Amino acid sequence: MKSEWPGNWAEQISGRACEMCRSERLDEDTYGIRIFSTADVDAVLQRAAIQRGYTLVIWRGRHVVEPFELTEPEAQSYWKATLTVAKALATFYRPLKMNYETLGNSVPHLHTHLLPRFVEDPAPGRPFPLLPQSRDEPPIDPVQLASDAAALRALLG
Ligand SMILES: [Zn+2]
Repeated sequence: MKSEWPGNWAEQISGRACEMCRSERLDEDTYGIRIFSTADVDAVLQRAAIQRGYTLVIWRGRHVVEPFELTEPEAQSYWKATLTVAKALATFYRPLKMNYETLGNSVPHLHTHLLPRFVEDPAPGRPFPLLPQSRDEPPIDPVQLASDAAALRALLG
């Protein structure tokens, strides 16, 4: 199947139709459970059963598409939060490797996918086969997710 850029690309790039800018920054939403936040960054442990520990770090300042658009203090704040969360994920899940994917090809607002990679893994030794979430992925067991989120929040506290 041929993939395409989102039809409202110009509106998304400009921030006029940016779902990440519209976020209410809740502790829990349809995507997952927030495990860490600063004034301008959220980290959300994902509910969809894509990979254990899969977490999205989202820039919550003004609308920014590319990381190079951040001012130096903003960049410091964004990447420091990203590294803090990645380290907590590595500590908790003990993966073989952490992956950091700053893509933005379906939602062009700065965010980074943090993916622990395991022995049992969909693509050992290769990039994670990450697709845009369709919102009908099966969820992680909610008890497991809540327990992971609580442990990660404690580590990040
Ligand atoms: Zn935005």
